[in-house]
Formats: sequence, C-alpha cells, structure tokens
Amino acid sequence: MNTMNITNWGHACVSLEADGTRLLVDPGNFTDVAAAMNGTAKDSEAKDGAVESGAAKTSPTALLVTHPHRDHCDTTPVVAALRYHPECVVWADATTCASLVEAGVEANRVHEAVPGATFTVGPFTVTVGGGKHAKIFRLIPVGINVTYLISADGKSVYHPGDSFDVPASTPDVVLTPVSGPWLKLGEAIEFVRTVGASTVIPTHDALNTRSANIMVDARLSDPDLAGQHTYCRLAKGESMTL
Ligand SMILES: [Zn+2]
Repeated sequence: MNTMNITNWGHACVSLEADGTRLLVDPGNFTDVAAAMNGTAKDSEAKDGAVESGAAKTSPTALLVTHPHRDHCDTTPVVAALRYHPECVVWADATTCASLVEAGVEANRVHEAVPGATFTVGPFTVTVGGGKHAKIFRLIPVGINVTYLISADGKSVYHPGDSFDVPASTPDVVLTPVSGPWLKLGEAIEFVRTVGASTVIPTHDALNTRSANIMVDARLSDPDLAGQHTYCRLAKGESMTL
C-alpha cells in the first residue's frame, strides 16, 4: 500500500515523502538546513552548509518556500544545499525566486508558485493558495506568502506559511502555526476549527519555551475549543505516516 510520510525539521520546515519522491518545505534559520535537505535522521554537525555535512541520504526532488522571511528560507545554507543537490528544483513565491536566482541558483531550476495554480512533482499534486503574509503591525507593509495544499496517494497536507488562510479543500493534515510576531493563539484555534482536518500538527514554534508549547498543546487538543481531531506534536526529526 502506498503511504505518505511527513517529517518535522523544526519550526516551519517539514518534508513529505511518497513513492520515493521527497518535498522539503520552508527550510529557515531555526532548521538545520543541510540535515533537512539531506534527509538525515537527526541534526547533522554541519554548520556551514550541505557540503560539510557528509553523504546525502536522499536528495529532495523539490524545495517549496512559502515566503522570503529568514525563518522560512535561510538563503545562504539553502543555496549551498541546492548546489549539493543539483537535481532538486524550487517552487516559491516570486520574491524568494528572485532572491535565490540573484544568489546564484540556476534560473531554470526555480519556479514561481502563483496562487490559484497547481503543479505536480512525482506523485505529489500541489495547489498554491494564499498571497499575503499575516499582518504583523499596521506600520509594517504586508508581505507575500503562498500556501501549499499537497496531495499524494489519496492523502493531503496543508502548509499555510505565515497565514491562517483556509485551504481550497479539507486536508487530512493541517500544519498549524502556534507562535510568532503575527499570531495569537485564539486565531490558531479558530483556524483549526475552520479547516476541520482530522489531524493537526503544530508548527512555527521556535519562539516558544517548552512550557509555552505545553499550554499551546492543551488548548489546541481540547475538543471543546478546537474541535475533534488527532493532535500530533512531532519532535524535531520525528516522522509520521499518514
Ligand atoms: Zn514565520
């Protein structure tokens, strides 16, 4: 039976694997980018990019980025890792595409993810949504942010980036941001209720202490608040099968 696997690489970074194809989403500066790109089971010792991190286990087929903030795309290690994995292509918002090409990534590997569009990578079908980052403060211009609804083998996972935009259809798994300068917990609870996925995985939590995550987990797993679902916090490097 075909299955999809999801692995948490920390903060907003996850990888999805199906039928030997691996997608990596949002490798930012709270993630060991080289380890996430290499698919190694735990954080590698690499400090300076993929070249120093030892042998790659499996190259990702595609890298997806929701928006250009550094906690979602840490340009220097990402460019180094893309050099180390020359067959990996990129799908990203327009601003990230331009930055990566300017930083030396070959333009023919970099594809703009336009809200409303759909693309395929191996067994995965990816529907792009969103368009705008959540508001941080009224004097800070609202930036770009795309969302990804990713399906394979009859299962789907939704990554909203830094937004609470609702996906075009109900996913099996919703990755739910729980901390950040643009976010309050009540909005995350409302998002989970509205999306109605059967599994909720908390993400975007690098700013939280352990105690803060315990409080977050209690709220988001309370069916009276967030509705009925399986709530599944994945440790860094941990995987689950859908
Ligand atoms: Zn973020």
